[in-house]
Amino acid sequence: MEKVDILSLDVKDLQDILKEHKINGFVARQIYDFLHNKLEFNFDNFNNIKKETRSLLKDLFYIPELKKVTSLISKDKQSEKYLFSLNDKLLLESVLLTHDNRKTLCVSSQIGCPLRCDFCATGTMKFEKNLTASEIIMQFYLIQKDLKKKNQKISNIVYMGMGEPFLNYDNVIKSVNILNNPNGQNISKRNFTISTSGLINEIKKLADDEKQVHLAISLHSAIQSVRDKLMPINKRYSLEKLAESLKYYQDKTNNRITFEYILIDDLNMDKDAVSALTKFIKQFNAHVNLIPYNKVFGKPYITPSKTRQHAFYNALKNNKINVTLRDTKGQDIAAACGQLKIKKEKEQDGKNN
Ligand code: SAH
Ligand code: SF4
Repeated sequence: MEKVDILSLDVKDLQDILKEHKINGFVARQIYDFLHNKLEFNFDNFNNIKKETRSLLKDLFYIPELKKVTSLISKDKQSEKYLFSLNDKLLLESVLLTHDNRKTLCVSSQIGCPLRCDFCATGTMKFEKNLTASEIIMQFYLIQKDLKKKNQKISNIVYMGMGEPFLNYDNVIKSVNILNNPNGQNISKRNFTISTSGLINEIKKLADDEKQVHLAISLHSAIQSVRDKLMPINKRYSLEKLAESLKYYQDKTNNRITFEYILIDDLNMDKDAVSALTKFIKQFNAHVNLIPYNKVFGKPYITPSKTRQHAFYNALKNNKINVTLRDTKGQDIAAACGQLKIKKEKEQDGKNN
């Protein structure tokens, strides 16, 4: 019999399976608590569960094999990047950001990304797979397990790591629901943000399915021809269609939308860029997050000077746009997602050759 992924089950599913083996509902609840609340992933350590039951668990179930390979902390200690291996072969990344008292975890939803935006490190990799809901939540669980020792807790989750979450919609939403479960980590749905390159059908679907979950859009240009070059998906879902789906989202949810805008020198920062962006943003209740481009090896794009970054920021401010300029936190640890994986694979290649 094929083993079942135990983390993907809710209490009721677990009770149903265990009932067939004459194990009562209370024990199933204890098992759920070990996994999703105590974050214990070794069945042998379920210490108040009978030995025979633990042995049965091993026969029936498995836990996704996610292991920490390395982690790097930035000089300012505000961001920490984790590299995980999945089943001892595939690599994926998560980033923990600390801001005042808030800890935000950035999780990956895929290994590689088939959308291949031209500026993105993840887009240069081979697309390997969609992560299962359990593989997504394990990123949270392993990091939270470490934090628990210091009495700290992750408060917010953003799907801004490797991959396009809306190409893996069902598993992403399932992971939100597991992390939201009051018998587990109990993270409020309001504290989740899903970042997308602009898959319009899933944007509408999110508005119908999960009204509390926040949405971030990787915009990077409000000019069709410029965005076409940066993000191939823009040819399929034009800015006009994107705007239409965002209006639907905002009508249904009333949530403020975040727009991510990478600043790239001589590409998306001139006067036309400012006016197009202003016009686009004014259609919504929105916030714009400017992110100085993080250099990716082999790409022609250039990070603008601080002066230029501030000029762009001020131009938007003057146009009464709600805007923040992100500092290039964690550049010393290659914080833009995908970059640590690439570095590690290069090191391994170096060793093998
Ligand atoms: N696929 C989703 C989520 C993952 S990308 C999306 O595109 O929204 C997460 C964010 O990192 C996006 O805003 C993306 O545009 C940004 N990003 C990718 N490469 C970057 C780089 N080199 N420098 C700065 N930001 C980058
Ligand atoms: Fe994929 Fe997002 Fe990177 Fe584009 S920016 S290649 S959608 S991960």
